Amino acid sequence: KHYLERIARLDPGLNSFITVAEESALAAAARADQALKAGDAGPLTGIPIAHKDIFCTQGVKTTCGSRMLENFVAPYDATVVEKLAAAGAVVLGKTNMDEFAMGSSNETSYYGAVKNPWNPDLVPGGSSGGSAAAVAARLCAAATGTDTGGSIRQPAALCGITGIKPTYGRCSRWGMIAFASSLDQAGVMARSAADAAFVLDEMAGFDRRDSTSADVPVPDYVDALDNDLKGLRIGLPKEYFGEGLDAGVARSIQAAIDEYRRLGAEIVEISLPNSPLSVPVYYVVAPAECSSNLARFDGVRYGHRCAEPKDLEDLYKRSRAEGFGPEVRRRIMIGTYVLSAGYYDAYYLKAQKIRQLIADDFKRAFEQVDVIMGPTAPATAFPLGAKMDDPVSMYLNDIYTIATNLAGLPGISVPVAPVDGLPVGLQIIGNYFEEARLLNVAHMLQ
Ligand code: GLN
Repeated sequence: KHYLERIARLDPGLNSFITVAEESALAAAARADQALKAGDAGPLTGIPIAHKDIFCTQGVKTTCGSRMLENFVAPYDATVVEKLAAAGAVVLGKTNMDEFAMGSSNETSYYGAVKNPWNPDLVPGGSSGGSAAAVAARLCAAATGTDTGGSIRQPAALCGITGIKPTYGRCSRWGMIAFASSLDQAGVMARSAADAAFVLDEMAGFDRRDSTSADVPVPDYVDALDNDLKGLRIGLPKEYFGEGLDAGVARSIQAAIDEYRRLGAEIVEISLPNSPLSVPVYYVVAPAECSSNLARFDGVRYGHRCAEPKDLEDLYKRSRAEGFGPEVRRRIMIGTYVLSAGYYDAYYLKAQKIRQLIADDFKRAFEQVDVIMGPTAPATAFPLGAKMDDPVSMYLNDIYTIATNLAGLPGISVPVAPVDGLPVGLQIIGNYFEEARLLNVAHMLQ
């Protein structure tokens, strides 16, 4: 009730929720209360959370931030949703997001932009901007997010919270609406690494319904939180500290690294030579996969259908033109282009090869160091509207986050010293399935 009251009072100014599920939240809270009284509580019993509106929720609308799914109610729960419910969490509602998770500012949402809780003239980041703003404004204790190129870590950084993108395959993608299937990964956005550990413990794990989910045991993330950092080898990639990084953000990141040195860590300069290619590679691979994934929205089986179609072709064309916003249409066009005969080798195949080189850079780095650190985003939150007419400058906001998705590695963003009163995120990247270490390293700073 406390959280629902805060949402009713504060969210009109933030727009972080697309749907508030008041009735089902109160019913779940009553069940949690009974479970507590009966001494039958689960690990998250009664904890009020929110789901990014990309996760299918049975009986509650799932829009994916799009007009295409404005009235879509999924007939089933995503695995992640099911698992958190089984652990006792209470779902307050579904959070706003960039349309089909395409964006870095939450401004591509059909349901309107989300405001940054620290300053309503600024963006919260994206695409999980609703989840980030809701956690930062204390409208929920934690929230789910998804990260295809930075969409958990970048909004976490811009809103001053902790966000973890696990290893590709660590959490099930079943029931999570697909954007770029080889990059998409679900994760947690929370106030602290400790809170994120409690939630990730319940979310992670193999799911036979997702063929890319990893059949690797899930360690206890909470147990590892307080491990000593003496002797930890931290790699600083020189490519993450060069041109384009805001001077204030650089100072704040440096101060955090100094703190790790005091905690006994050893700092090593490393190089990820192919990382400058990660944005161009991503903008071939992700649109290619999205153009294929979004082909299912044709106005026939579900989603928006145009009025009075003349014939089948008219039905497809108008349903899609009306249902998708400009950024989604741009990605479908790029994706279709790079996959077409004659261009496939020049763009898609070449991008796949460079993707491997980017992953190899990390492999070499992890022979030398335990974790890699750098900024999550090049600057603090920018003004609403500032980058909407310039897609390339918007895309460059993910310059430090995208390479980890291309390699499938886990990453976390942790709040460090603010710059001019605005949050800054330190990014920590780990080797495959090293989420426990990332949460531990993040926790020691908090
Ligand atoms: N900002 C990137 C994009 O627009 C990443 C989005 C994401 O991680 N879902 O595609």
